[in-house]
Amino acid sequence: TDASTAAPTTNGANLLVDALQNNGIETIYGLVGIPVTDFARLAQSRGMRYIGFRHEASAGNAAAIAGFLTGKPGVCLTVSAPGFLNGLVSLAAATVNCFPMIQISGSSDRHIIDLQRGDYEELDQLATAKPLVKAAYRIDRPEDVGLGVARAIRTAVSGRPGGVYLDVPADVLSAALDADQGARSIITLVDPAPAQLPAPSAVDRALEVLRSAEKPLLVIGKGAAYAQADEAITTFVESTGIPFLPMSMAKGLIPDGHPQSAAAARSLAMTNADVVVLLGARLNWLLSHGNSPKWNADATFVQVDISATEIDSNQPIAAPLVGDIASVVGLLNDRLAKEPWTVPQQWRDQLAEKTATNVAKMATRLDAPHSPMGFYGALKVLKQVFQDFPETYLVNEGANTLDMTRDIVDMHKPRHRLDTGTWGVMGVGMGYAIAAAVETGQPVIAVEGDSAFGFSGMELETICRYKLPIITIIFNNGGIYKGDYVNNASSDPGPTVLDASAHYEKLIEAFDGTGYYATTPQELDDAVRAALAAGTPAVINAVIDPTVGTESGHLTSLNPSVTIAAP
Ligand code: ADP
Ligand code: MG
Repeated sequence: TDASTAAPTTNGANLLVDALQNNGIETIYGLVGIPVTDFARLAQSRGMRYIGFRHEASAGNAAAIAGFLTGKPGVCLTVSAPGFLNGLVSLAAATVNCFPMIQISGSSDRHIIDLQRGDYEELDQLATAKPLVKAAYRIDRPEDVGLGVARAIRTAVSGRPGGVYLDVPADVLSAALDADQGARSIITLVDPAPAQLPAPSAVDRALEVLRSAEKPLLVIGKGAAYAQADEAITTFVESTGIPFLPMSMAKGLIPDGHPQSAAAARSLAMTNADVVVLLGARLNWLLSHGNSPKWNADATFVQVDISATEIDSNQPIAAPLVGDIASVVGLLNDRLAKEPWTVPQQWRDQLAEKTATNVAKMATRLDAPHSPMGFYGALKVLKQVFQDFPETYLVNEGANTLDMTRDIVDMHKPRHRLDTGTWGVMGVGMGYAIAAAVETGQPVIAVEGDSAFGFSGMELETICRYKLPIITIIFNNGGIYKGDYVNNASSDPGPTVLDASAHYEKLIEAFDGTGYYATTPQELDDAVRAALAAGTPAVINAVIDPTVGTESGHLTSLNPSVTIAAP
């Protein structure tokens, strides 16, 4: 046959674009090189958004948080071996955080890798990824692209969401396939994250436990934020009067200023609650495993979670509600509408009283004189900024910078606080900020410890290249935890010490962004408001007293302390 009569063909790369677009995935976060460069160009030419990063970890972090924000898997594209490994860290973290994400990586050809013949960037990526992710799949023929992408998407978003690795050997991208056969091979997923409802008897059991409570407490986790069931959860909270404790990334699902928030009376609530309802929050280290003395040793637990094996992972659960949060809370609300139950007023009053005392204590700290500027002085400013601009996304990492920002800055909107998550990962900052801006179009403020910022700081160039409305505020106290440690053994700086006199604001000037230098709360306030008004990339170097803050932040008890001999 001559060219004019040959059947039209497609190829693996085009089919990969078809499969993603057919399932509503329109953005790729990546870093190109052999063998995926042309695939990224192709995706862009066919209308997908491609955001190119300076390090794969940031691309992966961006994809992970895009998954959290949208409920669709965020896609990260990486090159073979080293690029794949850099991205894999964020895919593993996404899995731990229960965020849906797909890492698509180019890889070397099977016949070379499997005989370990030593290819360019040779690595058995599928085997490497497998133990760290929810699932790992390989597409080894162009006719399987549709199937591979369908399996990756459904695995990432159904049940407990997580990270999926999709291995695409170089030769598959260029391999040709008959166009008709290709079109037929693309799968459009039906109901990729189906509702999952608990049995009516499980709902009865949970309501029975609730009705027996004198001092109930609802713990709202990032699984609840992810579920986008904000209205139903608010109805449940307000119709019952149940006090709630938001976990870090669930802040704002119900506004932090809500009268039923027990956040400012956290210890009292945890040590006294007799019935604890966990809503998309695991009883892991972040909740002291549900153990006393942090918790009431006699507490009874109700747990709402999509993962059946999460139940009883730390404490016996008297009433498991295994299902998706939107469905479960809907069922509870239906039942409560018919047979209302409200929380005893005495418990609510007790928490309200403690809240008022603690809020007043905090106000005194925030209002104290702030010279030199410490965390309280800087965060008093940011608290007001987020009140004035509630649509702004807050990305937050560091040690003291993380703990104190979480405690002081109220969130007013759901899913607007993005932070270090279940692993407490440093380095998520710029990737999270970029995806938040790309996915939502809203301004983003990243509040970064000076150490945490360093892990992904080169992405300032990415932010400027895409002209994203991201303000990076570096709480510069000259070190990890704090900046005043002195090493007496040599002239080398100590392990926790960073350059306190660093002018981080100048970094962004290299890429035509705006740098601000702030040594007082007033200067910080002026800088943030000017940067928000401009809506363009900015870095604010907020100089913080190096003597304030604590080693390991709120996690001092996790840090083994060792006697260090004097030289
Ligand atoms: P946090 O750190 O905020 O306490 P975790 O990440 O520990 O939150 O817990 C989130 C939990 O939410 C996980 O156990 C996960 O299985 C669960 N989850 C995620 N999405 C849903 C959903 N749609 N419905 C029910 N549970 C969910
Ligand atoms: Mg620091």
